Amino acid sequence: ARAQIGVTGLAVMGRNLARNLARNGFVVAVHNRSAGRMHSLVAEHGDEGEFVGSETLADFVASLERPRKVIVMVKAGGPTDAVIDELVPLLDEGDIVIDAGNAHFPDTRRREAALKAEGLHFVGTGVSGGEEGALLGPSIMPGGSRESYEWLGPILEKISAKVDGVPCCTYVGPDGAGHFVKMVHNGIEYADMQLIAEAYDLLKQGLGATAQEIGEIFARWNTGDLESFLIEITAEVLAHTDAATGAAFVDVVLDQAEQKGTGRWTVQNGLDLGVPITGIAEATFARALSGSVPQRGAAAGALPAHAGTWDVQDREAFVEDVRLALYASKVVAYSQGFDQIAAASAEYGWDIDRGAMARIWRGGCIIRARFLNRITEAYERDAHLPLLLADEYFTEAVGQGVQAWRRVVSQAALNGVPTPAFSSSLAYYDGVRAERLPANLIQAQRDFFGAHTYRRTDREGTFHTGWSTDRAEVEA
Ligand code: NDP
Repeated sequence: ARAQIGVTGLAVMGRNLARNLARNGFVVAVHNRSAGRMHSLVAEHGDEGEFVGSETLADFVASLERPRKVIVMVKAGGPTDAVIDELVPLLDEGDIVIDAGNAHFPDTRRREAALKAEGLHFVGTGVSGGEEGALLGPSIMPGGSRESYEWLGPILEKISAKVDGVPCCTYVGPDGAGHFVKMVHNGIEYADMQLIAEAYDLLKQGLGATAQEIGEIFARWNTGDLESFLIEITAEVLAHTDAATGAAFVDVVLDQAEQKGTGRWTVQNGLDLGVPITGIAEATFARALSGSVPQRGAAAGALPAHAGTWDVQDREAFVEDVRLALYASKVVAYSQGFDQIAAASAEYGWDIDRGAMARIWRGGCIIRARFLNRITEAYERDAHLPLLLADEYFTEAVGQGVQAWRRVVSQAALNGVPTPAFSSSLAYYDGVRAERLPANLIQAQRDFFGAHTYRRTDREGTFHTGWSTDRAEVEA
């Protein structure tokens, strides 16, 4: 046994992760259900490092040093369970199984408990960065026992992306914590993409600008606070010309967004924990709306708009307003996502360091961005910060853009341009900062029809009013 780590499941992700490990000097055992993928990996990339190929899972396990470290990189769901079931009888106490696929965190919690009972470590690991990240350095979010991280950490940190020499990989927390954080990462990615799409639409409708012109604006934005992978690729996509028609590429792409489900998981969990992740939710529903073909068919041209025609006088000022509104909305989406991490951390006993999460998202992953440094700094100032928006830097940064944000959202509404993520983020901002919300009335209504009781502003206790009798108040 001489391989230091193994990868089973050699489709795009597993293959590239195995190559990344080998290129970093690790001896890598490789296996795939259908042996063809294993043979082609060794044949095509055998010169990049040291691979130990096996046709059977038993030989693969036997080729690994102890404690064995097996990365499972297969289709999420049933296939992952099938591979784990096959692996477990072949392993010995103390061995480590790493699920690097996109598992739903409750599955990871279940699998971790089952393997712990067998004396094995199970490490549910989020990996972000797609195919290219897996090969050149992804952002890695491992959850599981601390003890297993002692073994795994040095390997995973070595193959992860680096920013200023710091690895984009750290221990996240027990059992499902790693996959949970990956899930929220993807939820934030949904919000970020939707906000960018709304900014594009505003520039298109407000300025009547072409894709090419909007691409130039995004390229400019990418040199400031908004600098990020998603803004960068947006500029590239907008500049791209369709070879078949000669039109701007985005103008020939059908406007129906699809999803694989991590956004939906994030929203479902937000509902379970009662965390208002409105940016992520609106982004997920915006994709659903875009794909609601019969409804859109019934509404298009039929629902009256009674909207104005957008007449932007000062084009430069408008572009700057949209930029400020985008940045403020983005801060809200991240603030909500980090709130969700904090709530889950408390609920599931994970003790997640939010500043460290922002740090490992700075490179390798889809939401990598300059402003993540600001988030890390905010949690360094106060590890228990109750609201990211309330950190001094973000208060100031968002505060500078509030008026622009209001102008953009109100003009969009007047002119009939949908901005679900921009507007809901502004509504959240105004809601969370309000001295008094109309929830007093909700509580009164609830007490009226369901005797659900209420608390008072002027004294302690829980009360009920006899609405259907004498309307006298009693202490509940
Ligand atoms: P796929 O999700 O397409 O899965 C294909 C792999 O799973 C193949 O190796 C296949 O083996 C194996 N497999 C499927 N069913 C079984 C089974 N019952 N028993 C054993 N092996 C099985 O591959 P990807 O590389 O795209 O993704 C791998 C994982 O990484 C997934 O969980 C995915 O969600 C996650 N991920 C993917 C990203 C991406 O950008 N693609 C990004 C981040 C995470 P065979 O060749 O024999 O069919």
